[in-house]
Amino acid sequence: RMTDSFVHEALPMRVVFGAGSMARLPDEAERIGSRRILVLSTPQQRELAQRVTALLGERAVGVFDEARMHVPVETVAAAEAVAADLAVDGCVAAGGGSTVGLGKALALRRGLPVLALPTTYAGSEMTPIWGLTENARKRTGRAPAVLPRSVVYDPELTMTLPVDVSVTSGLNAVAHAVEALYAPDGSPVVTAMAEQGVRDLATALPLIADDPRDRVGRATALRGAWLCGACLGATTMGLHHKLCHVLGGMLDLPHAATHAVMLPHVAAYNLPAVPAAAAALRRSLGLNDTADAADAVAALTALTARLGAPGSLRDLGVAESDLARVAEEVLAGPYANPRPVNRPELTALLHAAWTGDAP
Ligand code: NAD
Repeated sequence: RMTDSFVHEALPMRVVFGAGSMARLPDEAERIGSRRILVLSTPQQRELAQRVTALLGERAVGVFDEARMHVPVETVAAAEAVAADLAVDGCVAAGGGSTVGLGKALALRRGLPVLALPTTYAGSEMTPIWGLTENARKRTGRAPAVLPRSVVYDPELTMTLPVDVSVTSGLNAVAHAVEALYAPDGSPVVTAMAEQGVRDLATALPLIADDPRDRVGRATALRGAWLCGACLGATTMGLHHKLCHVLGGMLDLPHAATHAVMLPHVAAYNLPAVPAAAAALRRSLGLNDTADAADAVAALTALTARLGAPGSLRDLGVAESDLARVAEEVLAGPYANPRPVNRPELTALLHAAWTGDAP
């Protein structure tokens, strides 16, 4: 199907990539015509927000450094109040998916253009997907207006990302690419991006695990994260993302670590049903032509083990008794998946992910 017929819609994204490219932020702000910029960060990345402010000079009129995971509506309201007070006409989101998510919420609610300066591998900056959490429920949607107008990828900013977060965040990115390979709305462009994205991360993450200041590793991983994020933005995700969304929302699990645990298990479930996707994944993991889907899964499993990623849902604090509720909610909501999902198979998959047994 993939090569016979497809629809590919390119998103209007401008990407500026390279070590030291943070210095190009003022030019990027000029391009989109923002003169009164609010700089967004988490409390942990306040110092980065200050560096961005210094770089932007008079264009930066304030800092809002209270971004947090899952974009709580209270946080958005507080940021909106600051934005209104300062009459800002744009924002720079300097950080990971949580900070970019806050920028997107401001774009959605106030029409503010966003410049993104990503510092993790989550890839949110490449997608039109927004999320907002109210009363412990996360709503998500797609809106072209939340796409950052420009994304500045500076690998230097990722040097401080701790090894454990680098690993889980990088595997989160790999999961975007794996699901894009069998998405109903894939295309040859998506497949090419996914293959290169996985190849980059599979090469770079071991280098980073050995030495978090490895410059080649950092640049390669960030390039892979960009490509994998673009896959996420271009396609509809399947069982893996559905499971992680339900697990994260219901049990308040750490986002990237949940992706890292689930990745080999869902791959083992889906890949035998999609030979072309399995072949693309094998190529990107450096396996030869005689390898099959099971070998690709084994290589993914070996990669996560080599990186010291969390190995089981039990390690993340999930109780075995929670699994039935998770399965229930996954089965209740429709989503795209190449292999049909039924209760016994889903329960077995969740149980294997809980114990951490090889899939
Ligand atoms: P995060 O943004 O929550 O960052 C994790 C922590 O690491 C934070 O404390 C942050 O301050 C810190 N940090 C980030 N970069 C750092 C650096 N370079 N050095 C030191 N510390 C650093 O984590 P994340 O995994 O990037 O994002 C997860 C969130 O993004 C989730 O809420 C998820 O739902 C969302 N997300 C959304 C999309 C989308 O398309 N909308 C895609 C992926 C993830």
